[in-house]
Amino acid sequence: MQKLIELKKDENILVSSKLESFLKPDYVYLPILKNNTILVHKNDLVKIGDEVITGITSPVSGVVSGLKKLNSLQDADYYLEIANDFEERNRKEAGGKKKLNQESVLNILNLKGKKNLVLNAIDDEVYVSTENFYLFLYYDVFLELLDEITSLFSLENIYVCLKASSSENVSKLMSDLGMYPNIILKVVPDLYLLGRPSFLTSYLNLNMEETSVVAASEFYDIYNYLKRGRSKRDMLMTISGDVVKNPIVVQVKIGTPLALVMKELVEITEDDVLYFANGLMQGEAINLNSFVVTPNLNSLIIMKKREEKKEGKCLRCGLCSDICPVHLNPVLLKNPKYASLIKKECINCGLCSYICPVYINFNTYLKGESHE
Ligand code: SF4
Ligand code: SF4
Repeated sequence: MQKLIELKKDENILVSSKLESFLKPDYVYLPILKNNTILVHKNDLVKIGDEVITGITSPVSGVVSGLKKLNSLQDADYYLEIANDFEERNRKEAGGKKKLNQESVLNILNLKGKKNLVLNAIDDEVYVSTENFYLFLYYDVFLELLDEITSLFSLENIYVCLKASSSENVSKLMSDLGMYPNIILKVVPDLYLLGRPSFLTSYLNLNMEETSVVAASEFYDIYNYLKRGRSKRDMLMTISGDVVKNPIVVQVKIGTPLALVMKELVEITEDDVLYFANGLMQGEAINLNSFVVTPNLNSLIIMKKREEKKEGKCLRCGLCSDICPVHLNPVLLKNPKYASLIKKECINCGLCSYICPVYINFNTYLKGESHE
């Protein structure tokens, strides 16, 4: 197994165990991705679940009111604006069958030729508790669904994996698991990257080819589709960091402007701050204004702006190549001859920048920006 490390963190930053919600935005904004087509017109009335852009359904019922130029973690310039009418009218959707259809479960969970199924509730990034919350909010229905899946397929192992961040939750889960002897609970150590499927299967001594790893957030969507016939309309995300007075996990409608959630639910103790989408190691700095919640956003980390550490000259200490989990030599990113090869193999874990004693920021090299 790869060498994994525990990241340094401020133990005083604790996410509240109470779930917050922000489910009634006046408007939602859906990204118009390249090559996607808008399927509605201005002033059209839409229901929850209506496909409004190819592959994207509306999370609210309401009226299509235009296009806006916004930002998100998705590659889109323009966003379709829908004015929420708060009527919660739903489109009748496929799925939602009481009895599971073997073929659709096989496809949706990628179980063809698999012997093991792993439900992954591990959050890799510090101060993020999103996957953990999915598991503890929905574990009763997750366990029922996993049990039903076991009766359909002859799987050898079903694991539920989490970090031991809440002993109260772990003991609740363990008592319910008594009713499902075929499901094994694995409480894993707090080591960075164990949340990645390849690292987790290796830690569990399972063959990657024979194992399907499903994140708890994905399993929530699969449960909603298979058992309730619902398309994705809301999601959980963590809002945390060293300037957040009340770190939370919030249930939010897809397409909500992030600044609105912040204004309503989050108190910040400093003026000069930086916002990071999806964590400090693997995420990216964002401008909060005009930023929209999309399904691939799992957290917003807000940190006090500190004096920027000046990048020094490489000491050739070898720490970056020692820590690289996929055995690359990050220093070679500076050499155009090798840079594209490294970029191809790199898993964007951020460990080389984290460890470098002279603050070389490899992220900028990985994004192809020139330095010298
Ligand atoms: S970011 Fe890429 S190069 Fe750096 S340690 Fe991670 S995998 Fe290796
Ligand atoms: S960790 Fe930093 S100083 Fe050490 S070899 Fe890598 S780039 Fe150079």
